[in-house]
Amino acid sequence: MPATTYKNLIGGEWVTARTGSTFQNLSPANHDDVIGIFQASGAKDVDAAVTAAAEAFKSWRLVPAPKRAEILYRTGELLTRRKEQYAREMTREMGKVLSETRGDVQEAIDTAYYMAGEGRRLFGQTTPSELQNKFAMSVRMPVGVIGMIAPWNFPMAIPSWKLFPALVCGNTCVIKPAEDTPLSTFNLVQTLIDAGLPPGVVNIVTGFGPDAGAPLVEHPGVRAVSFTGSSEVGRIIGQTAAGLFKPCSLEMGGKNAMIVLDDANLDLALDGAVWGAFGTTGQRCTATSRIIVQKGVVKEFTKRLVERAKALKIGDGLDESIQMGPQVNEQQIETSARYCEIARKEGAKLLTGGRRPARGAFGRGTFFEPTVFGGVKPQMRIAQEEVFGPVVSVLECRSFDEALEIANGIQYGLSTALYSRDVNHAFKAMRDLEAGITYINAPTIGAEVHLPFGGVKQTGNGHREGGTGALDFYTTWKSVYVDYSDK
Ligand code: GLU
Repeated sequence: MPATTYKNLIGGEWVTARTGSTFQNLSPANHDDVIGIFQASGAKDVDAAVTAAAEAFKSWRLVPAPKRAEILYRTGELLTRRKEQYAREMTREMGKVLSETRGDVQEAIDTAYYMAGEGRRLFGQTTPSELQNKFAMSVRMPVGVIGMIAPWNFPMAIPSWKLFPALVCGNTCVIKPAEDTPLSTFNLVQTLIDAGLPPGVVNIVTGFGPDAGAPLVEHPGVRAVSFTGSSEVGRIIGQTAAGLFKPCSLEMGGKNAMIVLDDANLDLALDGAVWGAFGTTGQRCTATSRIIVQKGVVKEFTKRLVERAKALKIGDGLDESIQMGPQVNEQQIETSARYCEIARKEGAKLLTGGRRPARGAFGRGTFFEPTVFGGVKPQMRIAQEEVFGPVVSVLECRSFDEALEIANGIQYGLSTALYSRDVNHAFKAMRDLEAGITYINAPTIGAEVHLPFGGVKQTGNGHREGGTGALDFYTTWKSVYVDYSDK
């Protein structure tokens, strides 16, 4: 059967790119499986999409927020009915196992319901005026057209974190999905349309960063930009947006530490480590990539971690027995392999994995073995730089204080975890770990949608997705004074 061709969505119409170019999207578990043909868009396509979004903004901003919210509520209901189908398509497209893609769709459902609720709040403030017969208040106003550049690792959840709060606040959107996972974004947006979203309120332009992403950031009609992805690309986007005085939310890398103290429940910590390091094949910005273990338990913990890593069943995530799917593409595999080489040269000890499985073991897919390095020192590159693959390092520490120092000794600050039964350590970790998220006795992953999500230091530029933090990015404050003295 020939592969389906997908078009851009502009002003409610499905249209081919003006560039005349397309690209193929292949399944990472099997390169013979073509997911679809997508438009390789350029600046003219972006311009048409932004123009359509600006036109739609004129009426969408006037729709009462509770009515906008009703569309999100219906979107949540429809996604619930379509969950299994979308999860399967996401596993085929992106590679992570079915239990995880079901979770990804569920996050979009949770976000839809949560943000639907916000449509009946969107609180501003009333405040006393300095003057008699004067009323003072502040209200949230929509920003306008938002440009969104989404990553491939949470192909439905992360676009929903961006689209749903933006929509409930009255903005219109142009989204460029990651080139590895456009289908999941199409499924999400199709659901919004089926739930009653008017034409032009959300527009999709597929393509590559330099051709489609850059013009979206630069377009004068785009009032704010929301990006999740690599630090390398985030830096360029942030610099461009800053030059244009354009609000920009950047959510980027992590090098997330899990601390395991001598008094930890080791079974729990091991479950957390395996899930945190190898879930989504390590391709989460919240993935556990450094495990800092106190010296009393480091031997036993490392031995058991290696056993658990070796026992993981790798393969096509559509098979329910599989525990770890492929990496998303060839480039990611190369990055994992390169970092394993760097780690070896730095003197880290490869305890398991470190390579692609034997050729042919999984057909034409981009697989990498679950990898554990021991004897890692805090300043090694493998302990400092983000790999974004199934590669985890074990570092030994003598004390809780030393563990904190190692955990904080990096440029990133997204997620952290502490495993300990000591409540004093738990509260100190909560206070002293330099990160946007700290888990106590739980892995570094698994953020819930109604809490702020984001990091400190070079993980981002201070904005938050999820929770009410998202509303702060997608609205602008207006102060209103009403003088009713009628003199
Ligand atoms: N859902 C993820 C988690 O908390 C966060 C998103 C990401 O890692 O990219 O595990």
